[in-house]
Amino acid sequence: MEQFEQEVVVKQSVKNWQQYAECSGLDTTFFFDATKKGEYDAKLVCGQCAVRQACLEYAIENLEYGVWGGTTERERGRMKRNRRIA
Ligand code: SF4
Repeated sequence: MEQFEQEVVVKQSVKNWQQYAECSGLDTTFFFDATKKGEYDAKLVCGQCAVRQACLEYAIENLEYGVWGGTTERERGRMKRNRRIA
């Protein structure tokens, strides 16, 4: 029940998803570190984030640099290409 309530809150606030970001207030330097270690550390934070999907959609649409929504630029590029094909 708790997870359902959390999902409802996130969906209702999708326009303001940044306020629920797990990375908010962190030094996000490693989100833009293209090494395997930087990507791994960033993805660990994203894995705990309640607004990961909204973040991912934003990053895909806006061609953001670095790790967003638990994905790298390369991974999002692949996702975007796959969406065009489907
Ligand atoms: S998914 Fe990752 S980058 Fe996006 S808001 Fe959450 S912690 Fe930050």
